[in-house]
Amino acid sequence: MQEERKTPEMRAQMTDIERLRHSTAHVLATAILKIWPQAQFAAGPPVDNGFYYDVDLPHRISPEDFEKIEAEMKKEIKANHPFERMEVSRDEALELGKKGRLAALSDRDQPSKFKIDIIENIPVNEKISLYRNGDFIDLCAGPHIIRTGNIGAFKLTNVASAYYKGDEKNPQLQRVYGTAFKTKKELDDYFAMLEEAKKRDHRKLGKELEIFVLDDDVGPGLPMWLPRGAAIIEELEKLAKETEFAAGYQRVRTPHIAREQMYKKSGHLPYYADSMFPPMSIIEEGKRHEHMELVMDRTRLQHELETGKWNDPQTGDTVDAYEERNRIDSKIDQLSERYYLKAMNCPHHHKLFAAVPRSYRDLPLRFAEYGTCYRYEQSGELFGLMRVRSMQMNDAHLYMTPEQFETEFNAVNEMYLNYFKLFGIEKYLMRFSTHDPAKLGQKFVDEPELWKQTEAMTRNVLKNSGINFVEVPNEAAFYGPKIDVQAWSAIGREFSIATNQVDFAQPRRFDLRYKDRDNVDKIPLCIHRAPLGTHERFIGFLIEHYAGNFPLWLSPEQVRILTITDEPQLLDYSRAVLNELRSHQVRAEIDTSTDKINGKIQRAEQMKVHTMLVIGKRDMEANAVSVRLHGKGNLGAKPRGEVIADLLSAIKERRA
Ligand SMILES: [Zn+2]
Ligand SMILES: [Zn+2]
Repeated sequence: MQEERKTPEMRAQMTDIERLRHSTAHVLATAILKIWPQAQFAAGPPVDNGFYYDVDLPHRISPEDFEKIEAEMKKEIKANHPFERMEVSRDEALELGKKGRLAALSDRDQPSKFKIDIIENIPVNEKISLYRNGDFIDLCAGPHIIRTGNIGAFKLTNVASAYYKGDEKNPQLQRVYGTAFKTKKELDDYFAMLEEAKKRDHRKLGKELEIFVLDDDVGPGLPMWLPRGAAIIEELEKLAKETEFAAGYQRVRTPHIAREQMYKKSGHLPYYADSMFPPMSIIEEGKRHEHMELVMDRTRLQHELETGKWNDPQTGDTVDAYEERNRIDSKIDQLSERYYLKAMNCPHHHKLFAAVPRSYRDLPLRFAEYGTCYRYEQSGELFGLMRVRSMQMNDAHLYMTPEQFETEFNAVNEMYLNYFKLFGIEKYLMRFSTHDPAKLGQKFVDEPELWKQTEAMTRNVLKNSGINFVEVPNEAAFYGPKIDVQAWSAIGREFSIATNQVDFAQPRRFDLRYKDRDNVDKIPLCIHRAPLGTHERFIGFLIEHYAGNFPLWLSPEQVRILTITDEPQLLDYSRAVLNELRSHQVRAEIDTSTDKINGKIQRAEQMKVHTMLVIGKRDMEANAVSVRLHGKGNLGAKPRGEVIADLLSAIKERRA
């Protein structure tokens, strides 16, 4: 795939930290040239969490070289050279390139070949600029920080290979990665976070804690949930059902598949086809014979295609075989019906809205379903629970009159905020994507008034609720403004977990209507929302957020009873405690193995069981249990009734 060129507008949006990191890339190139003056550089942009520079060099750079390169970089930073911008004409830039002076410390024998290619691809109306720090001059649109000395702390992290412009027909370059921060402390915190993130990796913990598995026979990207994972799912669904019920939602159920025609109506086909699993073709029973004959005709034709011509046996006419094949194909098409696995729940829900005549009195109507969807993600994109091909979504579609929009949207927002509070998500950001009036009718559905109205109302709600949001113009969905929610886990890793969209195109495509007060048919507005995202992504997030130490209510195993000896009387008492807990729906287990108590505790700690009840003879005689909390240690003996009552109220209140 070709890498996209950044427009000047995109560059102007570079954040402070991106400028700092991109400037560090220039310093990296400077250092590499001091060691290997013949190095040729291609592109050196900032990326998530750092920067890279692509370099063409006979010497293979390895991490052993980093110290040497970093030492040169430090000299350049210490010299505190200013980053000077110079605007030049295209010819001047090319002249410098021919002399090998671009991305170089001086003129060289070899031209700056990649930079010349880049100049040749700069649109004619775009200004060409150079940036200089010390002896180093680079072709660059900027922007940069003021001086090299402003780079507080940096580190080279990795070297990989990459094709020039991401195209495998082009030469292979070495991509040197690094990161930079304003201060040494920020840099240290970042690497400490990466260390911690490795320990919390949901793929690692998901396996150790027996939460989910991916199995090759089932298929890539199709996670299965072990009982411990299913327990978390049950709790999340219970939470969603209770919350949504209280907010006036109604639950619906829909199948996992639908006919092709529905996705044509929704507009997902053909545009979204690449993201859907290929369709299943089904031939009606009475038509199988006819179908088979057509398929045989088609196979015969396929052979004829080598000559390009085909004689019609009846008329003797020469018919173009391609044309004939298309004719057979369309006949085959008519005999078969295609079904798709659903990639989204909206069309099914719209059908439920349309199933009953609706009046303004029925609105707002809120349909909720933990819907299972299937998306055909490229295999290279699949990643643990974060990028999967089957997903269960905390979905709902809200249908309303325009007057009801603000209240409904506000309520949805409140729901997000309450969930964040419950899960201890302290840092989050809502990216509010709006339309560009210049692109109405092309990139955005042509409803200027609705766009203006709903965007203004959405902006108002976001402002009034004091929510942390940024507005991103020109990135709305085709059919309305949208909000992407990013959340940061306890250790500062970023996840996108949910979206919230306003839709005024689909209700029209599905011809959804309600009778308004004036007895005129109107089209409702629709909000798509999924605050808990999908089980897959949300649980992946929670595993890393909690490092597997789930709060009691979410714990796959809430309580484990550990008996100190295996005397029959003690076992009876312990089982009675177990049964009492289970009768209150507490996920409790018992370890009656003959191991020593310390071994039992160790095993329970390993599985991060929330509460351990250690039971010995003295506990039994006092009708008590000794409580031990995972990671917190022994809390001592307490009356059995009190302990159980405490557990039940903590679970009920979903206490952290
Ligand atoms: Zn630059
Ligand atoms: Zn939807």
